[in-house]
Amino acid sequence: MKIGITRALLYQYYYPFWRSLFERLGCEVVISDTSTKPLVQKGIAVTVPEICFPIKIYNGHVINLIEKGVDYIFCPRFVHIEKNYWFCPKYIGLPELVEKTVPEAKLLIAEIDCDREDTAALKCYLPVAKKLGVSAHKMRIALEGAAEDFKRFREYCNMGLTLDEAAEVMFEGAKISDFALPEFDTTIGLLGYVYNVYDPFISMNIIQKLRELKVNVITFDMLDLRDLHKYRDECTRPIFWTFPDKLYQAASVMIKDLDVQGIIHITAFGCGPDSVVGKEIEHDFADSGVPFMTLRIDEHTGESHLQTRIEAFTDMIKRKIRKVNEVIK
Ligand code: SF4
Repeated sequence: MKIGITRALLYQYYYPFWRSLFERLGCEVVISDTSTKPLVQKGIAVTVPEICFPIKIYNGHVINLIEKGVDYIFCPRFVHIEKNYWFCPKYIGLPELVEKTVPEAKLLIAEIDCDREDTAALKCYLPVAKKLGVSAHKMRIALEGAAEDFKRFREYCNMGLTLDEAAEVMFEGAKISDFALPEFDTTIGLLGYVYNVYDPFISMNIIQKLRELKVNVITFDMLDLRDLHKYRDECTRPIFWTFPDKLYQAASVMIKDLDVQGIIHITAFGCGPDSVVGKEIEHDFADSGVPFMTLRIDEHTGESHLQTRIEAFTDMIKRKIRKVNEVIK
């Protein structure tokens, strides 16, 4: 049985879990190709124009998996993974959205409605077990194994590896030391959902670009969940969306504990939650004096535009650091 996994939306965050789960169930895992212009264009062509850019890209990956001849495309419905925090409506309605847009897609739908970050609650995957013809017992064992793998993956991320690097350690035989970097004197917090930060078509490899500018980069997924929630109680207007809340909490930790000298918020065109969260971060941490820049990406954004913006932002921060150092001397 070939199970297709879309290299889109929460792929980078949950891929180790999903891969481990389906392989433990004896399935062959097929991943859609890396986002390219033709792949993205296919998604744009079939999706309603009003929707956010990452959902259009998701549909491009669904089409790509159909072309690869998979038996099912795994399409989880993310509702919640933590009490009182919810996913944005596009995630909650994702299976229906895909079914209406790409009717030939045969979906394998997990109902992610639990209080676990790793999503490994049996009830979420019973519909998957039924469709694949595996027993609840077998599914439970596979989920336990996948949860262990996800835990290990998150530990690599908490050591400062990007999601891509941690996945290479998990599956490609890379060593943590392969990703050792020099310590630069400038550190920037890069805030964005994993698809905005890691999908090379959306982010245009922004982490690599910042590192080439001699900048240390911290993303929310590098933070341990316990650290991430450290200042949650201080939040005067709690954010009830799951990943937008993670971004807000990450900004808080980065500014208060990690001494970042700047924050870049990378967001995709058409994202409702981001238009609120970005403004809240900018407003609530204005007194910190940490410069904040929003990069809004859509299918028309050019790489040179992104490069110019981050170079200018980085230059400004480095000048500021130099001036502060001169005053101290
Ligand atoms: S959080 Fe924003 S970018 Fe992500 S699916 Fe929802 S609207 Fe789209």
